[in-house]
Amino acid sequence: MPDTYDVIVLGLGAMGAAATYQLAKRGAKVLGIDQYAPPHEFGSTHGDTRITRIACGEGPEYSAFAARSHEIWRELEAETGLDLLTQNGYLAISGAGQRSANHGVARFLDATVAAAKSAKVSYELLDSAALRQRYPALNIVEGDAAYHDTVSGFVRPERCVEAQLKTAAALGADLALNEKVVSFTQDGSSVTVKTDKDTYRASQLIVAAGAWLPGMLKPDLASRFMVTRQVLYWFRARSEDAHALFSPERFPVYIWQLPAPQSIYGFPATGGLEDGVKLATEQYDVATTPEQVSRTVGPDEVREMYETYVEPFFPGLSPTCVRHKVCLYTWVDGARFVIDRHPDFQRVIVASPCSGHGFKHSAGVGELLAEMVTSDRKPDPLFAFS
Ligand SMILES: Cc1cc2nc3c(=O)[nH]c(=O)nc-3n(C[C@H](O)[C@H](O)[C@H](O)COP(=O)(O)OP(=O)(O)OC[C@H]3O[C@@H](n4cnc5c(N)ncnc54)[C@H](O)[C@@H]3O)c2cc1C
Repeated sequence: MPDTYDVIVLGLGAMGAAATYQLAKRGAKVLGIDQYAPPHEFGSTHGDTRITRIACGEGPEYSAFAARSHEIWRELEAETGLDLLTQNGYLAISGAGQRSANHGVARFLDATVAAAKSAKVSYELLDSAALRQRYPALNIVEGDAAYHDTVSGFVRPERCVEAQLKTAAALGADLALNEKVVSFTQDGSSVTVKTDKDTYRASQLIVAAGAWLPGMLKPDLASRFMVTRQVLYWFRARSEDAHALFSPERFPVYIWQLPAPQSIYGFPATGGLEDGVKLATEQYDVATTPEQVSRTVGPDEVREMYETYVEPFFPGLSPTCVRHKVCLYTWVDGARFVIDRHPDFQRVIVASPCSGHGFKHSAGVGELLAEMVTSDRKPDPLFAFS
């Protein structure tokens, strides 16, 4: 491998794989570096599925990234033959008197409707009677109401990373896997990146290090990011008939603001009865690091999840948890993203679009990152994620 590049991408998870692919497509001489061999299970981009929605209750400024990502994934599907995106619809459910805040937005359901209008996404509103009739898998609470659209659905994170890295390599990108970056510095017109194996130079560096990012920043910058442990669960349905109620043909992805301490989100069944049905809550109370996080899930944790969030609301799911995974959020206040030049190194771009909802935007974010370095496209001063 040469030791001088147009661009180095540090981290080849969701954002770094997307940026590397877009850079290779534009003919840039690009090196992607990762301490593991993505896709892997140590960061934020694993667990089979991610919700994608264009009408984002987090704010209308996110929609363009999700919409563009859908187009890119369809292009990649055509190029690679991989199945990446399923548009089986999305429900945002909330009820009177229930917690209505989600991802830092006080009235998430209303904000989703506003975002749909702004992004010109067709949608319908459903009352509790309509929800009960259409989705018997859910124990809908009287008074619940929902937003529903059909352009949303789920995307396969590991396959997206794999497709983008393979295509990038085929287009000429160099990938240094199982190689850990230990430092980067800017000197004059180039950036020097040292790893545990080698030293590389490039005109520009994109840092897409996910949950490892805070460890690479000075304390005043690092303190803007909080890494939290999240757990994904797959519970087995009680019978084949109960499992069938979760099939993607009849069951959408959802975010449900339950009468419980946390809201829940989930997916249709993507496999057979023994593969279970995936769902999860979110926690922001305890900060951690990728090095310190507990990656095991104990029986008490599973039992609490089942008794508080699954049994009361999903009558067809049994207490048998067939699988669980620990995953990391990199949280920015207000569930925001950070995509900007490093304040001390203008040749370094930091990309941290996570806060628990970044994957759906990743292909479009990769395109923006590539354009920021190759065409000097500068997000305007009011760019939402500066
Ligand atoms: C449980 C869970 C559920 C989620 N659900 C959704 C959802 O439904 N919808 C949605 O849109 N989003 C969702 N998200 C968010 C989404 O998955 C993240 O926004 C996205 O995966 C973040 O990607 P990333 O590239 O920033 O991080 P990662 O994919 O973790 O990539 C960072 C990479 O940097 C590498 N790296 C770090 N430090 C170094 C170093 N020193 N040297 C070399 N390599 C290094 C790591 O090895 C890693 O591969 C969820 C996240 C989690 C954890």
